[in-house]
Amino acid sequence: MIHKILPVGPLQCNCSIIGDEQTHEAMVIDPGDQIEDILDILREEKLTLKQIVITHAHIDHVGGAMKLKAATGAPILMNQSDYALLKMLDMQAAWVGMKAPGAVHVDEALGEGGVLRIGEISSSVMHTPGHTEGSICLYFPEEKKLIAGDTLFAGSIGRTDLPGGSFDKIIRSLHTRVLALPDDTQVTPGHGPQTTIGDERETNPFLQK
Ligand SMILES: [Zn+2]
Repeated sequence: MIHKILPVGPLQCNCSIIGDEQTHEAMVIDPGDQIEDILDILREEKLTLKQIVITHAHIDHVGGAMKLKAATGAPILMNQSDYALLKMLDMQAAWVGMKAPGAVHVDEALGEGGVLRIGEISSSVMHTPGHTEGSICLYFPEEKKLIAGDTLFAGSIGRTDLPGGSFDKIIRSLHTRVLALPDDTQVTPGHGPQTTIGDERETNPFLQK
């Protein structure tokens, strides 16, 4: 499996470009910004984009989705519990001092237990509310990889003080869903360095009993 991670935009959201080496089909997760750079990687790796997956409707994760869709024709997938937040992109842009990206339209809702396929690679959708109500993680069981969005970071967890956030819910999502994964699962958080479930289980101060 091809997995390129590109930190994009002023908040350096980790955009993942995932491709199947056999069929050259790809998905892009969280194209917040720098769409030209994402398109360059797709071209370099000879990948055809099939899906644009959004872990949650914060501007730094979803801001470039329509531009990427316009360039590739790939549909945008997101959990429907974040649709309200998606309608507030102008307000979010003002909070972080970014230019408003215009309206983003979701093509398909991503729910708990949903399975996404690109070529031979399958991943399952875990609904993990807390950072936002519609936050998801994407788990690739064969590759033991988790794309965590802003639910889990190396040594920290997502903030819950923004609209739709809940500390109780993120802690429940982390303990019941994320920590249920094997220790050797490689985690790509929404921002910052890579980690593993085992490292976070042992050292993350938010996850200690
Ligand atoms: Zn966020």
